[in-house]
Order: sequence, then structure tokens, then C-alpha cells
Amino acid sequence: MTPLSVFLPFNRECLGSAFVPAKHGVAPPERRGHWLIVQDQGLVVVPDGDRFHAPAGDLPRGLDGAGRTPLWLGTLDGTPCWVVALARDVPIPPGLHRETLIPMQGTRLPDDLLSLGGMALQALWWESTSGHCPRCGAPTERIENEWGKRCPGCRYEHYPHLHPAVIVLVRDGDRCLLTRKASWAPGRYSLVAGFVDNGECLEGAVHREVKEEVGVEVTDVRYVGSQNWPFPSQLMIGFVATYASGEVVLDREELEDARWFPCGELPNRPSRHSIAGFILEHYARP
Ligand SMILES: [Zn+2]
Repeated sequence: MTPLSVFLPFNRECLGSAFVPAKHGVAPPERRGHWLIVQDQGLVVVPDGDRFHAPAGDLPRGLDGAGRTPLWLGTLDGTPCWVVALARDVPIPPGLHRETLIPMQGTRLPDDLLSLGGMALQALWWESTSGHCPRCGAPTERIENEWGKRCPGCRYEHYPHLHPAVIVLVRDGDRCLLTRKASWAPGRYSLVAGFVDNGECLEGAVHREVKEEVGVEVTDVRYVGSQNWPFPSQLMIGFVATYASGEVVLDREELEDARWFPCGELPNRPSRHSIAGFILEHYARP
């Protein structure tokens, strides 16, 4: 059976029909429900044995007044979900804990909280970057019941931006071409990846990124899944491609190393939470 990336964390779909996004409709009048409290790419949660859950009911004591007006994200099982940002210097009240949302930092959050937290990060990122018109610089207004913003001056409208990026596993028979950046943890290797350019289709971006980063040509480019990646707002589109020709030549500005590994002897892999981990798990087998 084809493995499904749909249920990776940060994809809203992993919450199933339980989550209804707030795109249309009016925010509930009472600010009660699930609280997605974000501080510095971490989620403030209630520890519960070796598990975590989001604070529920009223905004936890000690945090009222700490953030701006809560954003309504949608409903989970009919209960409203609210997003607030905490400044870095606000202390976490007793009984609560801040857990990182970043997979590479070893998050212990369950997939549902990662997905809700990811949407909270993206909502806050959008709010923090859409306050002024990108065309004329005037302060924008929220379009009623939408995430979009409108400029009262020049009438320009814009909506949350996602940045498409391709990520690709290059295979040649029983070996895989993996890359490593100098900033990564020692020994960690991953896939070729990069943003889609203006005027480019996804397959074109795959061919170009592989050629630019590692110098080889590929063929048989196959889509294998996608993941919304809220750091801060990428849409990762995953492919597997077959090596066609060329010697490996590194782009030294981007990469520290790139080399072929036998499928049975892959090095330190990316997190299982990422589409890179998903592709290596399902498509790099001997
Ligand atoms: Zn404007």
C-alpha cells in the first residue's frame, strides 16, 4: 500500500474531522476553550504523567494580560481553540511547561498538539507580518471573518502566504544520495531541498535544485507526499527521483557534504516528524 504523508504532524489532516478551521464564521463570544499558548517556538502545555495537553477553560492564571488579543483558530471537537503569543520574558506559571515545537530539538509533543501548535505558529507569523500593506505601507485591516488583510488606502488584499519548497530523494539502484549542511547535528544527513522559483513547476524545481546542490541529472521524478512546515510557513512537496548522469559536485555555499550511501547503511536520519524522515523511511529501503 502507498504510504500516506497526509497524517504527518503539522498537516492539519492528522486531526481528522475533529478540527474545523476558523476560516469562515464568527468567533465565539466567550474566550474559553483550548489554549494554544506560544512562546518562542514552544507550546505552553499541562504535563500529565509522560503526556501533555493544552490548557482548557479560561486562559491560565498568570497569563491574562501577558499576550495580545487571542486569535480564534477554529474548533476541536466543537470546543474553540484560541492562540496567544507570550513574550520571551514572561515566566511560565507553576503547573505549566513550555515544550519545543521543533522536531530537530527533540519535541515530546504528540502529533495532534504539534499540528495545532503549528497552525498557531503560522497564525501568529501571519499576524506579525501582515500589519502593513506590502504595496503602499499603510496599516492593514482584517477582512471580516477571514485571515486576509485589506489596505484601506490602495485596496490591496493579501492572504496567508505559504512558500512551496521541493524535497527530493535521489536513488541509483541500491544507493541514495544524501546531503548535509554545516549547521546540522554531527553525522546528520538529509535530502536535497529548495524553494520553488517564479515561473517554475515542481518537477522543474526538482531538476534545478538537484543540479545546483549536487551537480547530477535525474529522471523519473515521482511525487510521494507533502507536509505543511510552520517554521515559519513552508509547504514541503516530496519527490523520489532516479539518478541519470553526472558526477557529484557540491554547492559549497549550501552544503558541507553530499555522498552516496548504500540503502542498508544510511547515516543519522532526520526526525520521524518531518517529510524527510518519512521519505527516507518509506523510499530508501534496500
Ligand atoms: Zn496599500
